[in-house]
Amino acid sequence: MVSKCLMTVKGSVKVEEFGLVLPHEHLFTDLRGPSDPGYAQGDVDKVIEIMRPNLDAAAEAGVTALVECTPEGVGRNVEMLTRLAEITPIHIICPAGVYKEEFHPSAYLDYDEAEVAEIFVRELTEGIAGSSVRGGFIKLAASGNGPTEIEQRNLRAAAQASQKTGAVIASHTESAAVAQREIAVLEATGLDLSRFIWVHASVEPDVETHLAAARKGVYIEYDTINTASPDDYNRILTHLLEMLDAGLGDRLLLSHDAGWYDPAHPDGWEGMRGYTEIIDDFIPTLRDRGVDDAAIQMLTRDNPLQAFGMDC
Ligand SMILES: [Zn+2]
Repeated sequence: MVSKCLMTVKGSVKVEEFGLVLPHEHLFTDLRGPSDPGYAQGDVDKVIEIMRPNLDAAAEAGVTALVECTPEGVGRNVEMLTRLAEITPIHIICPAGVYKEEFHPSAYLDYDEAEVAEIFVRELTEGIAGSSVRGGFIKLAASGNGPTEIEQRNLRAAAQASQKTGAVIASHTESAAVAQREIAVLEATGLDLSRFIWVHASVEPDVETHLAAARKGVYIEYDTINTASPDDYNRILTHLLEMLDAGLGDRLLLSHDAGWYDPAHPDGWEGMRGYTEIIDDFIPTLRDRGVDDAAIQMLTRDNPLQAFGMDC
């Protein structure tokens, strides 16, 4: 039987080794974009100092892996992630891929689909940016009214790379309309839609659109779970229970979209959040609402391992 592994920044790790996995978080992100002179640079010691308490708290709470969702264009820095992986028992997964069009490094605007596919495959099978650190999935993003032509090219290239490597594609998506257009592009390539994650589905208020995409096999990611916004929190809770009732719990992923070290704010910033609210608060709430241990195990461990697992 073929084993399944997650590709971490330290290499391939068998899925049996993992417990709770957070499928969408950030450690080091730079939203100033690639044309900023300081883009994606930071003092490693400072980054470790600022991020260590969050990683320690997450490890203590039982997090075993954190999927870092920062691709090229918004500060991906494999050296930083490798150094952070040395100070924590939590496995860190880094993405192949590129963020939305307005954040593309200029070369990315001229590539054709085959060239982008080749870059993604190289990042997944050889290493990112000349390093030997391999991507564990493909992260993309669609603009607010996207996907644009360029972003559609990225989706088709990602589908090619996914079909070659088994990597899952996670795309930042701000509404159901955008998700439906992304899904149509991927369907036309023949991609198995269980290789696609609708990132930020939790911001789309119409749960019927979640159910419809999940029935096609798409992973629905509720990744903005944050007790600071009670309306969002309660909406996500209601949607999650509806997905479970519909028998689609195996399509759900849960995360915080939290963090991160921002090199524009080297001493930390007020929006920084840790990675334990799901464990400290959301899971107990789910238990209160009658969700059993088996379902919680499915939501927090089995589903992310199936989504991000690749043959090894
Ligand atoms: Zn994110």
